[in-house]
Amino acid sequence: MTAPNALPPFAAIVVAAGKGLRVGGDTPKQFRDWRGKPLIRHSVEALLDQGAIEVVIAIPAGAEEAAEAALAGLELYRLVIGGETRQDSARKALESMDDGSYTRVLIHDAARPDLPQQVTHRLVDMLDVYEGAIPVLPVVDSLAVVSNGVMTGKAEREALRRVQTPQAFRFDAILAAHRAWAGPTDAGDDAQVLMASSGSVALVDGDERLKKITFAEDFAPTMTAPLFRVGQGYDVHRLEPGEELWLGGVLIPHDKGLSGHSDADVALHALTDAVLGAVGEGDIGTHFPPSDPQWRGARSGQFLAHAVSLARAAGYAVANVDLTLICEAPKIGPYRPAMRAEVARLMGLDETAVSIKATTTEKLGFTGRGEGIAAQAIVCVTLAS
Ligand code: MG
Repeated sequence: MTAPNALPPFAAIVVAAGKGLRVGGDTPKQFRDWRGKPLIRHSVEALLDQGAIEVVIAIPAGAEEAAEAALAGLELYRLVIGGETRQDSARKALESMDDGSYTRVLIHDAARPDLPQQVTHRLVDMLDVYEGAIPVLPVVDSLAVVSNGVMTGKAEREALRRVQTPQAFRFDAILAAHRAWAGPTDAGDDAQVLMASSGSVALVDGDERLKKITFAEDFAPTMTAPLFRVGQGYDVHRLEPGEELWLGGVLIPHDKGLSGHSDADVALHALTDAVLGAVGEGDIGTHFPPSDPQWRGARSGQFLAHAVSLARAAGYAVANVDLTLICEAPKIGPYRPAMRAEVARLMGLDETAVSIKATTTEKLGFTGRGEGIAAQAIVCVTLAS
């Protein structure tokens, strides 16, 4: 995928050599799943999507298999074994690239999965003028200096910035700076290494989405689950004389009604199945079996409300629903506002999140002959915060 305003060629290093066990468990955090795929894969894919010509990944010794599995199917990446410290790992990756073919390099942490493209652009653009560029954010809270748990002073937040990665460098400058580094064995980051060699480091706007994944809470189920899920539902009931016609929770005057074990409201049944489908909770028959006498003649609104509560229990809120009713008669239009209001009420949604549509089948098939009504629904759910 090529960026809309193409960047000059750049390569990237992802430092993933940490043991990363602070989050608990035996697997280093960079290889554990986070929002549907291994944490490291998010940053590597983002860099490749945004145009990196190659991504060199520093991993712990012995983690080759875990890394290959986490990155399966990706091209244009290469693994190197990292060192004792983050700085050693960055330097080893840089040394492995010292063949004269690299001019710009981004050095990134595996633990920052969301990399907005705009940040990459700001960084790479700066290298026309500066030897290095880093994304920073302002400090919004006031700052206390502490000693032994007691406040001993304050720091001027206006003069301070929070530093993120990726950090961008002219390749020759950052490699030379790492080779010349005489400071502690673990510099805070690569910008400090460049600065120690009198390199110029520009600041660009960072992004809160570049937040570092560090703590156990970041790997809680609600954090690792997909942000969005969808479900679809489909239902049919027979039209019979002498039955009430309930559609979308609204009683509609008509010469026939839908027959079934409950009130046979196909619209609410399709919606119920869509919600259950979105969170993998089976179908309406799983929860309200027709063999159970307590559901005889039951109003279907309770099925839908129950499905929504199961979705909530799974950590998801319904974002929007789109329902299509398929019948020749009755005309749905006059009842649409009432149905929309009732579906919104049952699902705890704003009416703008509820779409109700209707179509005929041109007098074809069972719906065309007026023998029954069909409904289909699709639902999007989002991870509740
Ligand atoms: Mg049904």
